[in-house]
Amino acid sequence: MSGVPDSYQVMPLEFEAAGQTGEERAQRLQTVLEAPGFPSSCVMLIDLIRRRADVAVFDFTTQGVAIRYQIDGLWHPMATMDLANGEMMLVVVKHLAGMNYEERQARQNGSFRLLYDGVKYKFRIVSQGVQAGERIGVYVDFKRPPLETVDDLGMRGSMKAELSAMVEADKGLLLTAAMPGEGYTTVWRGVLNACDRFTRDFYVLEEKSRVEPEVINVTGITYDEKAGQNAFSDMRALLLREPQVVAFAEIPNGKLLNAIVELAENENLMTFSRLHGKNAVDALLRLLAMKPDLPKVAEQLSGILSMRVLRKLCPSCRLGFAPDERLLASLGIPPGRIKQLYKAFVYVPGQLDPKGKEIPPCPKCMGTGYFGRIGLFELLKTTKPIRKTIASGKLAELPKVIAESGHISMREEAILLVAQGTTSLDEVQRVLNK
Ligand SMILES: [Zn+2]
Repeated sequence: MSGVPDSYQVMPLEFEAAGQTGEERAQRLQTVLEAPGFPSSCVMLIDLIRRRADVAVFDFTTQGVAIRYQIDGLWHPMATMDLANGEMMLVVVKHLAGMNYEERQARQNGSFRLLYDGVKYKFRIVSQGVQAGERIGVYVDFKRPPLETVDDLGMRGSMKAELSAMVEADKGLLLTAAMPGEGYTTVWRGVLNACDRFTRDFYVLEEKSRVEPEVINVTGITYDEKAGQNAFSDMRALLLREPQVVAFAEIPNGKLLNAIVELAENENLMTFSRLHGKNAVDALLRLLAMKPDLPKVAEQLSGILSMRVLRKLCPSCRLGFAPDERLLASLGIPPGRIKQLYKAFVYVPGQLDPKGKEIPPCPKCMGTGYFGRIGLFELLKTTKPIRKTIASGKLAELPKVIAESGHISMREEAILLVAQGTTSLDEVQRVLNK
């Protein structure tokens, strides 16, 4: 296997196979301990843990087994495994998870647990026949602490203070924006958690089938789209409870958006909602493309907090370099301000140092050059000129007006993280250009 350092200590392993009873679990485990694929299965499972892969996909075809790992949200192709080895491993993993290893077509799923280095990991296995053969998904539960607050997500202090002032306002509409599958729920929960929910009456309106894990001290209220309801169906009853903050988990159209801003205005309420967007300007333009009542939105919209997710440079192996003046100028960093920037050290098999010795991968990040992730935040405050432009409907002018309003763009926020050595320019380009 490529990318394995010269020393690879294997800790004692303890498996807990699937099964209803202790006897069933023990029997299952006994069968796999004797299976020829057991040793290579152990190596594979430890490899997933060591590399912090949340998901691994194994594509079984007649040519072999193509493997990719998802680490810190990014897919990494791994060395292909020969089919015979792969098949033996698959039997072990499926049997451990309580699945039928002879079934290669129908979708199956199961799970087992593994104690490694004092930590118990749950492995969820999903198998499914596909045109080229069979696809196996291995999901590792690392039991990472949930990212609940904007502090957990790495928001800088001065932005946090600005955000607090916005969420604590008496009325208005504050939006969060992110891309689907890239912190969309996380930033929303971060903002709900940024409010003082202990002193204000706080409600979240969600569609029945899309309810998300609850936030402490927030009352969840559901509506049923199938029954023709929307977030406003029971608004009269909700208003009798005299809420101070009402959060709408989604804005389906301009009509509902109008209803939200009217609610904020007429009832003296702080409202929250969220939408998809690459950055705050993108989200704002998407919001206004719903063709709401522009002057009303302009008056109530307090701002937009948008977030993308960046991988952090591995602190053990990041490489410092002295940036030349042209690079600093292109990043908008004044000359002389930054003496050193950092880039990732990415392991390349067979790469030699000046003495002709092979350079091993970093044992912390296993050669990816990155370790963990951080939220890249951008906070847009709707200043007077921005409100005026929205109200006038001259939306094409918005990006220019926003840039001239002293707003710190997402790219500028990212450069701050690069200047601190938290992430690399390559990573910023990768995320902001997608
Ligand atoms: Zn490293």
